[in-house]
Amino acid sequence: MAKKLSGVRGMNDLLPAEAPLWEWFEARVADWLRSYGYQQIRTPIVEYTELFVKGIGEVTDIVEKEMYSFEDKLNGEHLTLRPEFTAGVIRAVIEHNLTYDAPRRVWSMGPVFRHERPQRGRYRQFHQVNVEALGFAGPDIDAELIVMLARLWKILGIERVRLELNCLGQADERARHRADLIEYLRRYEAQLDDDAKRRLHTNPLRILDTKNPALTEIVAGAPRITDYLGTASRAHFEGLQALLGSAGIAFSVNPRMVRGLDYYNLTVFEWITDALGAQGTLCGGGRYDPLIERMGGRPTPGIGFGMGIERVIELLREAGRVPSAPVCDVYVLHQGGATQPVALRAAELLRDAGLDVILHAGEGGLKSQMRKADASGAEFALIVGAAEAAQQAAAVKALRARGAEAPFATQAVLPLAQIGEALVTALERISE
Ligand code: ATP
Ligand code: MG
Repeated sequence: MAKKLSGVRGMNDLLPAEAPLWEWFEARVADWLRSYGYQQIRTPIVEYTELFVKGIGEVTDIVEKEMYSFEDKLNGEHLTLRPEFTAGVIRAVIEHNLTYDAPRRVWSMGPVFRHERPQRGRYRQFHQVNVEALGFAGPDIDAELIVMLARLWKILGIERVRLELNCLGQADERARHRADLIEYLRRYEAQLDDDAKRRLHTNPLRILDTKNPALTEIVAGAPRITDYLGTASRAHFEGLQALLGSAGIAFSVNPRMVRGLDYYNLTVFEWITDALGAQGTLCGGGRYDPLIERMGGRPTPGIGFGMGIERVIELLREAGRVPSAPVCDVYVLHQGGATQPVALRAAELLRDAGLDVILHAGEGGLKSQMRKADASGAEFALIVGAAEAAQQAAAVKALRARGAEAPFATQAVLPLAQIGEALVTALERISE
């Protein structure tokens, strides 16, 4: 026997039983983003490795140890499976000059890849909804993104989420904070873990984001970035908080929240749930005003967020929000031979009328086909027997018990050309 093949560790199949929930989520997301004027942008899954190194920053978890990078054997190019959306989206925005005359609101959805240790809520291929607002400098757009997310939780029926905010200031403010932070952390150097020791001089801010509980106390006493903010940064942060307050959105300021990327400035935020254990961050985002210029574009402010779809889906599943599997409207049965082409024509006519149809395929007696029709969840069976087929007609029978008065509670033979309209009317009556 041939060796059994398996999928790559940490990369999941989405099976048909799960698909309705994902489809439901994706449809809500597309409507939600449209209602705020966001336009979709789709960029390749693969980009040149240097794009992510430049765009995400060399001393980050992602670039240091999580990227799927490889050399294209055919031409020697260094490529990487996208570990996040922002770098690729910004690359495309610059390449196609999308912000030349006006700001842009864009979104994307799809798989991203990070080589992490697989566990609940943490996979090697996972999916994100990604949103970027480009060309807006004020805190009003920061508030818009957050208000928008609060609305999404409402649309999805998600209740157990909270919002944490921080302000990372500007480069000069962070430099002063960084110097004090290094001095502070040095005093505890012996107690730091390897990651933190390494970061002490490369990216000390990231130590504040540690997931190592042994460091909690040290981190709690560290200098806070919010104490280093100048007038303009403070005004931005206060402006955002005032807008959120007037929109009725609760939040807490977490002065230790940094974010995984180097280039964030001013606002950063996370939506967190306590319902999923350790992997509770549903969505993280922030402002990255220096990024576009750093990547070779004209100076353009930006802010965005990434949402982990698997985590949101798990929350929906736990809340029992499982949309019923889509059922077809009609199951078409036939007796093979000369009835087959008639059944095929009947099914196409029904689809012309806008109905969802499963046409029986293969052999099988009418009795066993009827069992399949029942199991399909279809509302009606269309039976193409030899006598009906000879007259380009078929018999319709309701499959669900809805009382003797319900349409087609008793079987009726109709000409093929009339069945579509008759069933559309019948379905309307049922749904009333
Ligand atoms: P974490 O701190 O959990 O590692 P992160 O800061 O690396 O998250 P981001 O880069 O901000 O995450 O990605 C945005 C969102 O994508 C996260 O809030 C989370 O919901 C989701 N996410 C991140 N990594 C994974 C993963 N490996 N598997 C599933 N979802 C993930
Ligand atoms: Mg991470």
